Amino acid sequence: MSSSIQGIAASAGIAIAKAFTLQVPNLTIEKRLTSDDAVEYTRLDNALAASIADLEKIKARALRKIGEEQAAIFQAHLLVLSDPEWISQVKDYVANEHVNVEFAVQTVSQTFIELFEAMDNEYMRERAADIRDVTKRVLAHLLGQPLIDLTALDEEVIIVAEDLTPSDTAQLNKEFVQGFTTDIGGRTSHSAILARTLEIPAVVGTNEATRSIHHGDKVIVDGLEGHVIINPSEQEIAKYREKQAQYSAQAVAWAALAHEVSQTADGHQVELTANIGAPDDVASVLANGGEGIGLYRTEFLYMGRKTLPTEDEQFEAYKAVLEKMENKPVIVRTLDIGGDKELPYLRLPHEMNPFLGYRAIRLCLDEQTIFRTQLRALLRASVYGNLKIMFPMIATIHEFREAKAVLLDVKAELQQQRMEVSDTIDIGMMVEIPSSAVMADVFAKEVDFFSIGTNDLIQYTMAADRMNERVAYLYQPYNPAILKLVQFVINAAQKEGKWVGMCGEMAGDEVALPILLGLGLDEFSMSATSILRARSQLKRLSIQQAQAAIPDIMAMATAADVEAYVREKFNVL
Ligand code: PEP
Ligand code: MG
Repeated sequence: MSSSIQGIAASAGIAIAKAFTLQVPNLTIEKRLTSDDAVEYTRLDNALAASIADLEKIKARALRKIGEEQAAIFQAHLLVLSDPEWISQVKDYVANEHVNVEFAVQTVSQTFIELFEAMDNEYMRERAADIRDVTKRVLAHLLGQPLIDLTALDEEVIIVAEDLTPSDTAQLNKEFVQGFTTDIGGRTSHSAILARTLEIPAVVGTNEATRSIHHGDKVIVDGLEGHVIINPSEQEIAKYREKQAQYSAQAVAWAALAHEVSQTADGHQVELTANIGAPDDVASVLANGGEGIGLYRTEFLYMGRKTLPTEDEQFEAYKAVLEKMENKPVIVRTLDIGGDKELPYLRLPHEMNPFLGYRAIRLCLDEQTIFRTQLRALLRASVYGNLKIMFPMIATIHEFREAKAVLLDVKAELQQQRMEVSDTIDIGMMVEIPSSAVMADVFAKEVDFFSIGTNDLIQYTMAADRMNERVAYLYQPYNPAILKLVQFVINAAQKEGKWVGMCGEMAGDEVALPILLGLGLDEFSMSATSILRARSQLKRLSIQQAQAAIPDIMAMATAADVEAYVREKFNVL
């Protein structure tokens, strides 16, 4: 008998495959006295051999798929595993205390970690993180719960997890991962956003995926409607195969629009651009007819590694994006770390409310070395294309002025060093905190452009955590409160002759599109895979009709009223 669960449709498409459940292993160690040290030594040798085999496999794959730098991390782990000093101390501990070897591994490793962490030398301090990772792997083998390595999958699966971190998602191998479903998360959690970039169908926030789905169950993930069907019947599989084929056929029809301009039936043009997280994403932007990059989330450059990226590494990434985009606009957002995007190596203290905490521009203005390094890399890359820079999470005009002053200072420094910097870089900001939306008239005088970040603007306006599926019902893009803020921002910018884009997920939403068009939005930045659908919708709309609907929409009291009205009036199915 099949069963089904419901979640939030986070990334379009249909996937049908076997479930692969990702459980975080429980590595709690108990101390036990043992009578035979030799048995413990053998267990250690086996766990070391198994860990070495894992790491060799991961390293080889990293080398093939990601690059030498990632592979070097695993080489460092292999070195720890063959360190005679560490191994002999573990064995001595067993011999002296007659305890289980996992307890010895944990205790000895802890001593090593503390020793390395206390060193002045940055390189040595990083070794502590290597020892911690390797210890986890060895303990997992000793406890019979080997760590799961997503990069080593070799058959088609649907990942089932409580949650996926953005770096887990970035590691997913599209060749084998057909789709995923999680217990928690919303449409704008970063794993959902990455799923759309990678074009992997996903249903998140089901509340019960890990409870209801067993490893190896056959599963259908319907990323169009948010259903997950567990152990479907032959008929259900046939029905979904047909839906899958229809979806592919539609994609082929849309592909014909890749080289067309983005305009309404009555000739009003807007720009349809894409959100990216890495230089490799540009290929999909171009294939999907993106007219620019509306948001390059640079934080992914900083994630999944052990240290901050250097100025040169960043320069190469920015230059690659600018060159590939061939003079089309590229809006790069400066580092927006925090919230659900963590950087363990910065060792920031744990916060009660990370989305309201020390993050993004707050951190950059405080840790100016990090900020200045990024700005230097960006400004050096500016001569390779059409770069625009924007700052995230601006709450006060003071923050914008300060960030801009740092940028201008870095520019002057580069020019003094005789480095070439473009003179036509627009400097803008994200409007994603209600205070800046309400003060948009003041900001509009000082910025070159706004980009409205509705993912955060909605979460902060409605006081509803974007990651929490229990309050997802409050996550309402069409709520008149949000629409009024968006209207105010657009009007304020227009008065000052500035343009406004939107790079939150709302920009790619079919119901929101006619409203945003009527309000006068200039640029819509979305997942690359939504661009052609949006272009085809735009072709069927008229700017006059969209503008004429605004007074009615703005007078409504609820998001549901707005949605029903727009669906009916603009024929959104
Ligand atoms: C937003 O907040 O709308 C946005 C685009 O930024 P992020 O999703 O990265 O927070
Ligand atoms: Mg944001």
